[in-house]
Amino acid sequence: MKLIDAPNKKTSGKPLRNGGPLGIVVHHTASSKKSKDENVIQMCIRGVNKVPGPLYNYLIAANGTVWQLTGDNIKANHAGRGNSSVLNGILKGIPVKGRATSAGKISANSSLIGVSLINDGLGQEIPQAQYDACVDICAYLCDKYNINPLSGVIGHLEWTSRKVDPTFDMHDFRAQVVSETKGIPAVKVLKTERISAPKPEIVPNKGVAFPGTLKRGSRSHAVKLVQRRVGAKADGAFGFRTRRKVKAWQRNFNGLKDFAVNHLSVDGIVGRKTWTAMCFKQEDLG
Ligand SMILES: [Zn+2]
Repeated sequence: MKLIDAPNKKTSGKPLRNGGPLGIVVHHTASSKKSKDENVIQMCIRGVNKVPGPLYNYLIAANGTVWQLTGDNIKANHAGRGNSSVLNGILKGIPVKGRATSAGKISANSSLIGVSLINDGLGQEIPQAQYDACVDICAYLCDKYNINPLSGVIGHLEWTSRKVDPTFDMHDFRAQVVSETKGIPAVKVLKTERISAPKPEIVPNKGVAFPGTLKRGSRSHAVKLVQRRVGAKADGAFGFRTRRKVKAWQRNFNGLKDFAVNHLSVDGIVGRKTWTAMCFKQEDLG
């Protein structure tokens, strides 16, 4: 794979959440066949109309060159609204089902990296070198960020019914990516190994320090503590089940306390107040 930093590559921007990409969305640019690569590259760095750049993290030219438009950890505006069920599948390691049947309402660009082929999407040929380079960059990113290709590499058309890209079969594509990765992380391994945040610290006499807000999509050791407290499976990945259990815990806490004094918002989010109410001690860290 020939990976090159694009001229004028964006080196700053909004960082991805969760410390890195959780998945990859594959696109085509739908740019004119007549456009020169260097113009498409610069357009995708700058943005178009009302969409600010970068539009993708990587662009793949017909000759197989992979252009890096911005860092892996910088948010690109590539996927737009899509389906929470798809994001959930990515988070849980559930194999992608196929084309999305609804437009979807959530944005996940802050968790998903965007990879796009320079192609008009109107029947322009995708040369083998370009396809192979797309497989290569996805396999490289899957290995680097411990992404399961079967659940974490999706086509834009699998994210939202509004889109038709890419034009090739994504199931075949994922199988190719799998064959190039060093090993597919099993779902459980995927969930625990991706946790890179340091263990929460102990503040003398105050218990475990507040690690910052924990909510759906958070992955950390601190999430495990919360999960044990609320009776959810302690895998460190804050999913919708954990959220439901946190809500129940908050509701229950409010029921036990004087509302006027110490009322928690029943929102399924562990902010400082809920964290403090959970009252973690040294022994909870074990
Ligand atoms: Zn797209």
